[in-house]
Amino acid sequence: MNPPDLDRLVPAYVREFEPYIPSKPDPELMKLYGCKRLWRLNNNENPLGPPAAAQEVIRRFPTPRGAVYPSGDSYYLRHKIAAVQGIDPDQIIVGNGANEVISFVIKAFCEQGDNIITADKTFAVYEWVATFSGIEARLVPLKGNTFDDEGMLAAIDGRTKVLFVCNPNNPTGTYWSRDRFRRFLDLVDGRQIVVIDEAYFEFVEKDDFPDGMNLMRSYPNVVVFRTFSKMYGLAGLRIGYLAGSREVVDMIRRTCIVYSVNAVAQEAALACLEDDTGHIERTRALVRTAREFVRGEMERLGLGVIANEGNFLIVRLPGSDTLAYRKLMREGVMIRPMTGFRFPNHIRVTLAGMEAMEAFAAALKKTLS
Ligand SMILES: *Cc1c(COP(=O)(O)O)cnc(C)c1O
Repeated sequence: MNPPDLDRLVPAYVREFEPYIPSKPDPELMKLYGCKRLWRLNNNENPLGPPAAAQEVIRRFPTPRGAVYPSGDSYYLRHKIAAVQGIDPDQIIVGNGANEVISFVIKAFCEQGDNIITADKTFAVYEWVATFSGIEARLVPLKGNTFDDEGMLAAIDGRTKVLFVCNPNNPTGTYWSRDRFRRFLDLVDGRQIVVIDEAYFEFVEKDDFPDGMNLMRSYPNVVVFRTFSKMYGLAGLRIGYLAGSREVVDMIRRTCIVYSVNAVAQEAALACLEDDTGHIERTRALVRTAREFVRGEMERLGLGVIANEGNFLIVRLPGSDTLAYRKLMREGVMIRPMTGFRFPNHIRVTLAGMEAMEAFAAALKKTLS
């Protein structure tokens, strides 16, 4: 049997795409680096886990329901989100993580020759999905660590379909104010779809921070992403969603795979929205404490910090971030090296509990000496 003729079978944009390699499971990493415990500070997870109500739902999920397909369109969860947001359930599409809804949007709007626009130093999945789908991703450099609105507007041409703005931005934590976003949307004037990725929405406490759901009410070309992975501690169950105007969502829905969101995730996410135990306030307080602590410790070590919104910050190292990753792993601390985000010599650290933050500060100090 001949091997398949992959040069002919596989489009060049797939052949040339550099696949993302996820890290190994924790037990394997601990063996590899010889550490007895591992602080996960690489993925902006919530160390408090899901809210109590969601924990209860997960614990009590009836096992026979493992044999039954879930609601194909997350019926009850969409109704719950709609009630909370004051929108129609048909304006919402739930996905297997916000990651999945990124590809729904690109598939719905882009064909060969089209382009999307985002920043150079932001969540990389917009760029990845575009690139391996054969769509050009135009990356406008951040300006002062913030998405550059003027630069993005200047990069638009007749084939631009979607603009992705991460607000606040992962990894810099910067955001556009309500006024700045409205001005941007006025200038786009409905010619493109504008995605506002609000993965860290629930962490932001600033008065001028815009709620994408409100912007979406005045601008029907806006699509908002939210996730249950970060504030709500459900990263392991994979669930997030998009919301938009009914016309836009009707189009996006054509590209969705139904049944991609499992039943446990749907019910746990719904419970998150009903929880009244102060989960959000507790998490925000933990993040604030961690941010001040790490900022102070890094200052003492003479290291620059980019600390804004969200449950993470960036530290500038005197040398290689990938080398620092390996050294920190030996101390049982997993951070995100930022070379892949086009931030060489920087690491991103999740803001978590004090024990983890102290372990990180001590380990970093040791690796620098
Ligand atoms: C974590 C993250 C997501 C994706 O979250 P899911 O786990 O796929 O729901 C999307 N955007 C940004 C900016 C993120 O940091």
